[in-house]
Amino acid sequence: MILELSRGPHSRLLSPSLGAQCGSGWSGVVQKFLEDVDRIMPTEGGFKLDAISEKYGSLRLDYSLVGATSEIDDAIAIREYVAESRSTIVCETCGSPGRMRGGPWTATRCDDHSEGRAALREDLGTCETATGRYRYDREQDDAVPASEQSA
Ligand SMILES: [Zn+2]
Repeated sequence: MILELSRGPHSRLLSPSLGAQCGSGWSGVVQKFLEDVDRIMPTEGGFKLDAISEKYGSLRLDYSLVGATSEIDDAIAIREYVAESRSTIVCETCGSPGRMRGGPWTATRCDDHSEGRAALREDLGTCETATGRYRYDREQDDAVPASEQSA
């Protein structure tokens, strides 16, 4: 996945020591996140993606951000939340539509890579920023303001 990303259009956003510990099925999700960051930080900014990993079945992105305004800080935090939420419907192995599944450990897999494990009821939680609380809306494939009731 690292090689694929480093050859992509947003390689300037990658830390030289970037590490990836997850399946390559999520490379499209990471690429979308980098596109979002590129739009938010158009100039040579202080953003570097440091690590890509899997935790509790979904994608985790670790990045460093220096010299950004709180607006940019929040905007990128929301895009990170969207990317991590998005990963729960994409097979980590192959990138096809997937579901979070239980078993010895939680994983997001398509039917072909599920190894017979049952789908879980997803609870994606919410994302809290200085500008408010957001939840991931699957139909819009985006973060939308979360009401107190749904939080
Ligand atoms: Zn798959």
